Amino acid sequence: MLAERRLIIMLGLSRGGTNHLAQRLHACCGVAGFTEGMSRLIHPTRDERRQIVRREAVESAVLKPAKPAFDCPVWSFNKVNYALQVYPEAWIDFLNKDGDSRTLILLRHPLMIHQSRVRYVREKKPQRVRWLDPAQLAREWLELLAAAWRISNAAVVFHEHALVDNHDAFLRQTLDLVPEAAHTPTHCPACRDELARRPRHPSDPQEWLFCPRCDRFVEGEGDYNFLRSESDAERYRESEREALSQFGECAGTLGAAIGREAVQFFADGRHWLPDAPTEFQSLLNASADRWRSVPMNEILYPY
Ligand SMILES: [Zn+2]
Repeated sequence: MLAERRLIIMLGLSRGGTNHLAQRLHACCGVAGFTEGMSRLIHPTRDERRQIVRREAVESAVLKPAKPAFDCPVWSFNKVNYALQVYPEAWIDFLNKDGDSRTLILLRHPLMIHQSRVRYVREKKPQRVRWLDPAQLAREWLELLAAAWRISNAAVVFHEHALVDNHDAFLRQTLDLVPEAAHTPTHCPACRDELARRPRHPSDPQEWLFCPRCDRFVEGEGDYNFLRSESDAERYRESEREALSQFGECAGTLGAAIGREAVQFFADGRHWLPDAPTEFQSLLNASADRWRSVPMNEILYPY
């Protein structure tokens, strides 16, 4: 099932832009993207093998708008680092061995991730208090970067580049994929009625797809808004500066874990530049001792 396909395997942190990139990959010709739970297909346990490696289970885990997964030569998996509840050593070996797969390490300004998590806890999940602790974020970053350093064929991607061109240049140049022009659903997946557009949140003029008959909004994986506009990069950079002043303590904790150079990289805004992936890769290679000393066989996802 996996062997005859090219796999795109994304590693990234929650609130780090993973669902956005997952939807963009799914919107490419010949690519079927899957919901996060399906990432376990990469490394299923024996019991899971019976459950999830069924044709119907795979077909029903495809992202919206649905595509016939078995007709697609490329399968794309999201947040593999969380979904695989096994020791990373096992799947890192798998990713290094498999020549036809591409592993993507998705990064986003860490303080923006923290800000987004704090907001998410406040507005949606007050019980997820672990997201308020900068030490949690620091640990996740350390483990993600240690995995990135160990996976030899991994490509670094920055979420901020989605604000410039929706990742399309990266998809074309690095992965040789063609983003489809028309990917926005036109009809409700439940009742097949034509969809309308309307704002969803009182303070935000952005429109969302809406089904008047079902009286519900239609969104992609992880509340992805198909109508989202990505043009306001300047306003986004302003909120980065705010996050920097608001979460200074978090930057210190993070620097102690992953190195001050890596944190400074984001503070300087170097992640916005076109050559950011190459520059960050050199930064990773320069700290090899730090990543080598992370005991990957002691990590057990998810948190
Ligand atoms: Zn409907």
